Amino acid sequence: MARVRVDSLRKEYDVGTVVAVDDLDLEIEDGEFVTVVGPSGCGKTTTLRMLAGLEEPTDGRIEIGGEDVTDVHAKNRDVAMVFQNYALYPHKTVFENMEFGLRMSTDLEEKERRQRVVETAEMMDIEELLEDRPDELSGGQKQRVALGRAIVREPDVFLFDEPLSNLDAKLRTSMRAEIQRLQDELGITSVYVTHDQHEAMTMGDRIVILNDGKLQQQGEPTEVYENPANEFVAGFIGSPSMNFIDVDVERTGDSLRLVGAEGGFAFDLSTSFLADRGVDLESSRYTLGIRPEKVSIADAGADNSLTATIDVVEPVGSDNYLHLDLGAEFIARVGTDVDLEPGDQVTLTFDEADIHLFDAETGRNVF
Ligand code: ADP
Ligand code: MG
Repeated sequence: MARVRVDSLRKEYDVGTVVAVDDLDLEIEDGEFVTVVGPSGCGKTTTLRMLAGLEEPTDGRIEIGGEDVTDVHAKNRDVAMVFQNYALYPHKTVFENMEFGLRMSTDLEEKERRQRVVETAEMMDIEELLEDRPDELSGGQKQRVALGRAIVREPDVFLFDEPLSNLDAKLRTSMRAEIQRLQDELGITSVYVTHDQHEAMTMGDRIVILNDGKLQQQGEPTEVYENPANEFVAGFIGSPSMNFIDVDVERTGDSLRLVGAEGGFAFDLSTSFLADRGVDLESSRYTLGIRPEKVSIADAGADNSLTATIDVVEPVGSDNYLHLDLGAEFIARVGTDVDLEPGDQVTLTFDEADIHLFDAETGRNVF
């Protein structure tokens, strides 16, 4: 088990024309399960490969278990990586696949290696498959073998690179639970990369959000959901995504009014609310963010409301999603008891406490 620390980690490709990882700082506690999430190309795999020693950093430092491993060869780092495509040796049996890494990374006797493989196979429920070759296995079985191969080594750190992406939705859900259970039992520090924010939110003790090679925010899932550091995080975390409306701030005496840049919307912020949050807004452009579940239906003409035409009513069982066109798409999650159809006008409102406001230029969270 080990703590992982990354300081100003940087990776450039193609003589600096691609900055895959841009001065990343991270600290992962001993035994912690951290998920790293971001869109395709944001630098997740490159980060993991540098942790594993498969890619040399352009700059920065990596520490595992208090030891500087930046220049330590992959085979001398006590980490095990699990890949999306399983990366099993096709000509080796399941037993041989699991035993091989153990032979490379430890000096255990053959008898002990065999015992460790069999015990791990039992834990992973793959003991029946030990004599099979990868092409005889289903996708789910291959992934169990790949996990088993990582676990059998009892590494200091697990690195997972989108390990469940090739599995169907149901299997993915059960494997998520299983990986968490195993990690919990083994207590091995884990870094789990995924592009799926739902997976990242449900699995991580802590979630790290990357975009364009840069750290956007890290924190507990609920903290990141409730207090996104910027507009990117706000839009990336949560499904359906947070709604955004361009607004201008207008001062009238002491009070502040948010006015929709496209018209059709005005919202007065109370002075007590602004005092509580300690914000004093300039008269300029902002982006208002409001989550679909925080929007409710109001009477036509109500204060602090907006009115728009419904494009689509999407029933999702427990709720209906109303899709509206407000310049950008806007989604309201409402109950199934409301009788609304495409083409109907609807008036919506929300509480000032649920509003997020972002600087229109920098995307930084104002409140
Ligand atoms: P992710 O795993 O988040 O999808 P990657 O770490 O694979 O992202 O890639 C980050 C960026 O680095 C992307 O722009 C990708 O095209 C680029 N990249 C990755 N590997 C290489 C490479 N070997 N040579 C050049 N560019 C690369
Ligand atoms: Mg990747």
